Amino acid sequence: MRDTLSSLGLEATNPGAFGKGVVTSAGPTLISSSPIDGAELGRIVCADVAAYEQVVADAHEVFLEWRKVPAPERGNLVRKIGNALRDSKHSLGKLVSLEMGKILPEGEGEVQEAIDIADFAVGLSRQLYGKSMHSERRHHRMYEQWHPLGVIGVITAFNFPAAVWAWNSMIAAVCGDTVVWKPSELTPLTAVAINSICRSVAKETGFEGVFSLVVGDGPDLGKRIASDRRVPCVSATGSCRMGREVAKAVGDRLGRSILELGGNNAVIVMDDADMELVMPGVLFGAVGTAGQRCTTIRRALVHEKIYDTFVERMTGAYRQIKIGNPLEKGVLMGPLVSQTAVEAYKAAIGRVAKEGGSILYGGNVVSGLASPLYVEPTIVRAHGAMELVKEETFAPILYVIPFKGVDEAIALNNGVPQGLSSAIFTRNITIAERFLSAAGSDCGIANVNIGTSGAEIGGAFGGEKDTGGGRESGSDSWKQYMRRQTTTINYGDDAPLAQGVVFG
Ligand code: NAD
Repeated sequence: MRDTLSSLGLEATNPGAFGKGVVTSAGPTLISSSPIDGAELGRIVCADVAAYEQVVADAHEVFLEWRKVPAPERGNLVRKIGNALRDSKHSLGKLVSLEMGKILPEGEGEVQEAIDIADFAVGLSRQLYGKSMHSERRHHRMYEQWHPLGVIGVITAFNFPAAVWAWNSMIAAVCGDTVVWKPSELTPLTAVAINSICRSVAKETGFEGVFSLVVGDGPDLGKRIASDRRVPCVSATGSCRMGREVAKAVGDRLGRSILELGGNNAVIVMDDADMELVMPGVLFGAVGTAGQRCTTIRRALVHEKIYDTFVERMTGAYRQIKIGNPLEKGVLMGPLVSQTAVEAYKAAIGRVAKEGGSILYGGNVVSGLASPLYVEPTIVRAHGAMELVKEETFAPILYVIPFKGVDEAIALNNGVPQGLSSAIFTRNITIAERFLSAAGSDCGIANVNIGTSGAEIGGAFGGEKDTGGGRESGSDSWKQYMRRQTTTINYGDDAPLAQGVVFG
């Protein structure tokens, strides 16, 4: 563990406030400990209010210069950051696993996602295209151009402590913005390590202040970002509760917010589904990251004709899942992130029978492991009217709900407040297309014959309804990090007005 930490330049105690330089901070000291065994990983001196003020002022000052650097040159810095992340992929991936408990291949996969989005952003730096339009007025030209926006506040959740920062920061940097990152209080060391990699690369260009960081021991600095007029755009990832508060604060000052909030994702398994596709898709989707992905499969909506077969095969597969130290080979499920998460798991399990469901597999905290944070992946026989299945419990609980026909299945899929990811397993193209149609899934992501999680960076990522409506990562998500300017140029000798208006 010590080797991993020192290879990433982490000390026993680390500063948690970085603007153009290290910002002196007298905030509380936050201890980062591993959910794997409770061991202390390191300490971080949090940003106090004065440090926060300085970091945001610095980020704004750096923005005033960074916005003038040609976008492809900005892309060049992001390319170097992507390469530095490549060099540290293993150590960073291991730190992600140590700090939040996901298995090593997923920790490394998360860093790979950060590398991928850096590559994407490099290409994007030469493609920040605006449209040109035909003016209705003679000898006039119209076009749209995209300018850098300013300081972007990035508030991140514990479960993707590297990738979500990268989705925002790599894109924001090529767009000419600077970033102030407020990471989760549960994963501050990963943030310190990533920030120091970025800063050491960016230092060569004199622009290390493009990437800044304020670590806090709770949500307070996030609240400050949300109401800070110097931050024109706030990208916030986390619970729906947090998103509501951020949306209100940013909306109050008419700022822009990108909200990536909770999910409650379902897969529909039709009676013609290929079980060889269903099994790995649902298993990874429901159990991966110990059920702590925003895109985790929480509800399996299964055609009544194959309900029993599905349950039998799934419980058989669950029996083989090895729970334990996520750094060990063969382990598929590590611990939950905190005792609070374990309590939420227990509370949900406690409601199952009261709401008319029954536990088919699991339902217990695992004893005898290195910390009290390991739980059994759980399968519940459930029905669509249960209140429990409408909520997101951030733990590996899969509610298996029967249905009779595709219309009922789509209604169940849509019958929850959240709208992040969804999927259908079928070989019937008509049914698949119905699921994907305007009257089908109401989610931001709708897949066919793959699960709900493990999105690629090339597509815009996000969801509807209580998931917040934000889109990050690929496609044209970059537009949110820039301001649009519509320009009309008159190269003639007359001054015609639009709509043919004659004035005077
Ligand atoms: P959380 O809401 O507890 O915290 C997320 C971040 O918000 C933290 O940095 C926290 O300090 C900050 N925060 C909390 N309250 C705040 C407030 N009032 N103002 C400003 N900042 C505040 O979430 P979590 O437990 O870290 O993460 C799990 C949640 O995140 C789940 O609901 C999951 O679905 C969601 N999530 C969504 C996506 C997505 O892309 N849709 C991705 C990852 C996680």
